[in-house]
Amino acid sequence: MSLDFKNKKVVLRVDFNVPLDEDFQVTDDTRIKGALPTIQRLLDGGNAVIILSHLGRPLKKRKEDGSIDKKRFTLKHIVPKLSELLVENVQFAGDTVGEEAQKKAKALKFGEILVVENTRFEEGETKGDKELAQKMALLGEVYVNDAFGTAHRAHASTAIIAEFFSKENRSFGLLMEKEIENANKLLNDPATPVTAIVGGAKVSDKMLLLEKLLDVADNIIVGGGMAYTFFLAQGGEIGNSLVEKDRLELANELVKKAATKGVMIHLPVDSIVADEFSESATTLIANSMDIPEGWMGLDIGPDAAMQFSQVIAASKTILWNGPMGVFEMQPFAGGTHAIARAVVAATKKGAFSLIGGGDSVAAINQLGFANDVSYVSTGGGAMLKFLEGKPLPGIEAIA
Ligand code: AMP
Repeated sequence: MSLDFKNKKVVLRVDFNVPLDEDFQVTDDTRIKGALPTIQRLLDGGNAVIILSHLGRPLKKRKEDGSIDKKRFTLKHIVPKLSELLVENVQFAGDTVGEEAQKKAKALKFGEILVVENTRFEEGETKGDKELAQKMALLGEVYVNDAFGTAHRAHASTAIIAEFFSKENRSFGLLMEKEIENANKLLNDPATPVTAIVGGAKVSDKMLLLEKLLDVADNIIVGGGMAYTFFLAQGGEIGNSLVEKDRLELANELVKKAATKGVMIHLPVDSIVADEFSESATTLIANSMDIPEGWMGLDIGPDAAMQFSQVIAASKTILWNGPMGVFEMQPFAGGTHAIARAVVAATKKGAFSLIGGGDSVAAINQLGFANDVSYVSTGGGAMLKFLEGKPLPGIEAIA
């Protein structure tokens, strides 16, 4: 398995699911840039590259008459940006596996690039339809998967298609390789102490991750809305803070398990509390176990930020998944920003830091720190599943 294909027609699955503005201009090209090293390597090898990707959810967000909104979801929108970034002419086919795509793929010369239409215009894509996957496979002789962001889905173009290529004729792309390598750095024999920072809204979303981390981490920092389920479980007063009452027992069990395994769980001792869920709310600093009635914790407080920063400063390996508060609103962004600064400072001192997807990636980007941490993952859900130890169909299909 390697990317050293020469003079082949390569079917390359990438994740070009990028945000667009009202004029269908790409507003954030991070994902396109993420795939460039693989495209470049394939072109350098004298290959012809046929690109498959999805863009948005065209089958869910249909027009009023029930038809697909092709104008909105066509992958043609990303072609100018890709041409600009590659400084190459990029061709486009107006269907995914139909006559036009097959004809253009056949006529494609070595060193040329063809983007075919949004894979999700095809009903069979998300269902993992075999027939569709076979038609996609007909576009080339070799299959490369560089779409880490969709590796947790068993879709036609991300997993099923691989069945139609022999082991020698399928491979991961460079981005996919980098994602796996960095996640494995954390999971397999990391430098200690290992600190995992887990935040975000819901405990239920992160429970499996927390369980898995008990085997890997020395410290688990819990912030964000999910912390209040732990406080309520311990008999605290949490006012109107976010809580999942059906997870109280699980939260207590996790704390107990951590104690038996010698893992320190750090909860935010204080919180920024607000009288309403709004940017213009009145705010106070409160003890997280004693939040006044009617108030809600929307960020970690200054003492918690300081304590967490000290734990992070003493760490050699750091994973961060999920914000410490409602960082989208300026009054509740301070905790997340403090943690970001602490992670950057620890990285400067030699720690390995992995920003594992989702909103913590948004926070790091918001602060312009993306180059000051060791690795920023491009796949939120996929990275979460990988860290939980779940097999990812997109990876299994190639391996
Ligand atoms: P997740 O997708 O689970 O990582 O959650 C991210 C979301 O959690 C963000 O939109 C945050 O605004 C939200 N969040 C973080 N802290 C809190 C909190 N204390 N209360 C309510 N929502 C929160």
